[in-house]
Amino acid sequence: MVWAMTAPPKHPTQVILIGGGLAGCECAWQLAQRGIAVQLHEMKPERRTPAQTSDSMAELVCSNSFRSDNPLNAVGLLHEELRALGSLIFQMADRHRVPAGDALAVDRDLFAQDVQAAVQGHPLIEVVHGEVTALPLDRGLPVVVATGPLTSDAFAAALVAVTGQERLAFYDAIAPIVAAESIDMDQVFAASRWGKGGGDDYLNCPMDKPQYLAFVEALLAAETLPLQDFEKGVQYFAGCQPVEVIAASGPKSLRFGPMKPTGLDDPRTGRWAYAVVQLRAENRHKTAYNLVGFQTKMRQADQRRVLGTIAGLANAEFLRYGSVHRNTFLDSPRLLDGAMRLRALPQLRFAGQITGVEGYVESTASGLWTALALASELSGTTLELLPATTALGALVQHVIDESVPSFQPSNLHFGLFAPLPEPVGKRRDKADRKQAHVTRARQDLATWQQAHATLLACG
Ligand SMILES: Cc1cc2nc3c(=O)[nH]c(=O)nc-3n(C[C@H](O)[C@H](O)[C@H](O)COP(=O)(O)OP(=O)(O)OC[C@H]3O[C@@H](n4cnc5c(N)ncnc54)[C@H](O)[C@@H]3O)c2cc1C
Repeated sequence: MVWAMTAPPKHPTQVILIGGGLAGCECAWQLAQRGIAVQLHEMKPERRTPAQTSDSMAELVCSNSFRSDNPLNAVGLLHEELRALGSLIFQMADRHRVPAGDALAVDRDLFAQDVQAAVQGHPLIEVVHGEVTALPLDRGLPVVVATGPLTSDAFAAALVAVTGQERLAFYDAIAPIVAAESIDMDQVFAASRWGKGGGDDYLNCPMDKPQYLAFVEALLAAETLPLQDFEKGVQYFAGCQPVEVIAASGPKSLRFGPMKPTGLDDPRTGRWAYAVVQLRAENRHKTAYNLVGFQTKMRQADQRRVLGTIAGLANAEFLRYGSVHRNTFLDSPRLLDGAMRLRALPQLRFAGQITGVEGYVESTASGLWTALALASELSGTTLELLPATTALGALVQHVIDESVPSFQPSNLHFGLFAPLPEPVGKRRDKADRKQAHVTRARQDLATWQQAHATLLACG
């Protein structure tokens, strides 16, 4: 990868952007296309994150796939919306597409090369190389942070100073999420521990002793994903340990931990079960539930197999699999507004995976959204949030949904979308539901685009 020498600023800087990954490149380009001069700081080639192997911007650090391109898949629908909104990353991904079934996979080198050329060659983008270690707030300009899941340590420390220690996480601990309609409600019971809070805030999946012991045995035998080199030696915080790590610490550990049955009266027996897996609503519409405390490094097939033995989950549709990995992210629902500004310091805003979205496509989408919000603000126009009926709207609203008590990053899935109205007299099947999501999203995006035609015209 050939780096251009840092050129003198071509126009007075209006926005400072830190991080030249997928989100940063998308954001810079969208702003520049709207006549806004951006100074983009990227620490490469001087420094790389532990996952990076090249010196280019917009590096795909692992897979070369942007996942499904089929709009009947939530991420494929997001592809469609990003193309409709003029995404640079998708223009280049389409240009360098390689055959991969219904997935959008790319030649990663040519892709990154062309994204970088577009960004570096834009007359309104000045690229500055080198690690940023302090927040450049003294110039009074809007600052966008898009430093990603492996934000450099020094800069993360600077962020902690404005967010507070407890609001910037360095590891995610993601519990699997299942679709509400795939849970066998006859096998579970609704109750909160000791009847506190909303009486039916949780769905509880009971186990007797033999079931519990068999479940622990299956967990311990399951195959887990290896840690990345830079994750080795990680000390998991209490409360964030993978469920199989808790199980390995003793046969009763889960029963005294996330599978504690106390205070949960099973209305069918009038007693407490031997152990219980609790499911907590993932959104206010209760269309999806997470398995409380079940963050895991099990392979996805093993998650389906082992967790499928839990009462009520035999036919569970996994909207998201559990995981635990190194990931710098904000407690966005408590910190950010819909324009991705830090509420306590609106000069500072965020884009990409650091906001709590997860994956190449979602990070690109986040970069585009932050750019639209900032461009709208700088031009004195109003930007309405996209409805959560659209893919981009659902993603943004997940990031700022204050009703979620314990925020964890997420890929996009249909469980994040606003629920569909149920047709009278019949239940939708899965294919029908997906098609209904797509039809509604297309209509609502088109309406939103019409209402914001001036802002979108120059993208
Ligand atoms: C090991 C690993 C494997 C992954 N595999 C996949 C996968 O297969 N598929 C998938 O969809 N997603 C994957 N992801 C997630 C994916 O990498 C992110 O979703 C995406 O890259 C995030 O985009 P971003 O722009 O927010 O951050 P990044 O793409 O990480 O970009 C951030 C940029 O900021 C720069 N930067 C960091 N700190 C500073 C600083 N202080 N000063 C200046 N620049 C700085 C970095 O050099 C980097 O270029 C993986 C992540 C990791 C860590």
